[in-house]
Amino acid sequence: MRKEGCCLYYSRKRPITDLPEEMTTIWSCTNEKCNGWMRDNFVFSAQPVCAQCNSFMVKVEKMLPILTNTSPNQEKN
Ligand SMILES: [Zn+2]
Repeated sequence: MRKEGCCLYYSRKRPITDLPEEMTTIWSCTNEKCNGWMRDNFVFSAQPVCAQCNSFMVKVEKMLPILTNTSPNQEKN
């Protein structure tokens, strides 16, 4: 019991800048004036459009903090 509480506290206290990063596939807005982008994991269509300006988006790779999966299965195993 004690261990669990300790781990939870630790992960919550960790600053966001301390998270490890990995090359992540994202979709980036083609509109130069727009900085919209989204993670490939969250894109469910073959050709997504930008949520901010409705321009086409292109697939690129970017160093991003590893996204903690909200599913408890992956986090605990
Ligand atoms: Zn855009």
